[in-house]
Amino acid sequence: MNRKYRKPLIAGNWKMNKTPSETKAFLTQFKAMLPKGRGCDIALCVPAVCIPAAVKAAKETRISIGAETCSAFSSGAYTGEISAIMLADAGCKRVIVGHSERRAMGETDRDVNAKLHAALAAGLSPILCCGESLEQRELGVTQEWIAMQLKAALRGVEAEQIRRVVVAYEPIWAIGTGHTASPEQAEEVCAQIRTILRKLYGGKLARAAVILYGGSMNDQNAPELLAQPDIDGGLIGGASLDPEKLIRILEAANQ
Ligand code: PEP
Repeated sequence: MNRKYRKPLIAGNWKMNKTPSETKAFLTQFKAMLPKGRGCDIALCVPAVCIPAAVKAAKETRISIGAETCSAFSSGAYTGEISAIMLADAGCKRVIVGHSERRAMGETDRDVNAKLHAALAAGLSPILCCGESLEQRELGVTQEWIAMQLKAALRGVEAEQIRRVVVAYEPIWAIGTGHTASPEQAEEVCAQIRTILRKLYGGKLARAAVILYGGSMNDQNAPELLAQPDIDGGLIGGASLDPEKLIRILEAANQ
């Protein structure tokens, strides 16, 4: 990471884990262990029902609370959906958009683009996920795939909005598998993402863009991954469920 231009971000993605009571217990423990003073940005993206408990527990701390997805629409007959406006009103600051697990459930690039716009319009900071499958990596089309996903997701996003977008490179083959990308593999794609952002938005905004790596990041491999110049933090699934592991990842980011 390059601290001169960007502040690191460690973001947890709890997926479908933890109840509201467990959220409260996690945050009580986590807050007590949090290093004092300024450090990297911290976000916890939690299941929708846990948002009120998380927002309450994170009040007056540097932990921002986020959701794991949002609707592409602002309101209407979409049973079970939650709009970005509702999330912002509930106290969320961030939302994950385009996670591969949601794409696997049918979310298209067009949906991801619409959700990104909905999140930005509601004043949220989206964490936009992109990443290739193992087959795409083996076929040598990772770069093209990532460029396509990013260009599609960012269609119509203006330069003044891009400052609020965090991009997370998450190779699908590394998510929840224990097979982390090597620091070199992760850096290569994160650097490509910055090049794409440079082409779309210019050098200054690309330099300031926060780009995360996600995919089996844990307290053991975080130091090496976070030492790469274009990796500005992590989107962390499994390891973010354990306050002690998450604190150790934060410590690595604060080095
Ligand atoms: C994720 O879900 O975004 C993720 C990176 O999960 P894990 O850390 O468990 O691989």
